[in-house]
Amino acid sequence: MLAIQNLKTCRRCFNIAEDDLCEICKDLHRDQKIVCVVEEPLDIISLERTGTFKGLYHVLGGVIFGGKDENLKISELIKRIKEEKPEEIILATNPTTEGDATALYLKKKLQEYDVKLTRLARGLSTGSDIEYADEITLSSALNNRRELK
Ligand SMILES: [Zn+2]
Repeated sequence: MLAIQNLKTCRRCFNIAEDDLCEICKDLHRDQKIVCVVEEPLDIISLERTGTFKGLYHVLGGVIFGGKDENLKISELIKRIKEEKPEEIILATNPTTEGDATALYLKKKLQEYDVKLTRLARGLSTGSDIEYADEITLSSALNNRRELK
């Protein structure tokens, strides 16, 4: 388990980490071609609990608020798209008004790149939080994700 006093931020995905890279980024058996974009590190814990997702993550650090994307790790995400060339980006922001607005905003920013953009299926009830969703609901939301065109 992570020792709280030693917590850092992963320099690649901004998950909490003990070293420069988090355990997920260090794991070369994970699918390097799929990146799941989440709002907060706690969402990663929930998604990991499903055992369904084997790709990588990118923590935004929040949502668009009042049309502003300050402090969100969007330019870092674009850099990863350019350098790591993932095949798919899953926009797994929460199914809330802000989360949906953020997914739409990211779609506009990212559609010029050669990467498939998907969004979690609507198994999650609107207004709910990924962090609190149960494993079965989250698994099905992941498995039934749809492409954003
Ligand atoms: Zn990481």
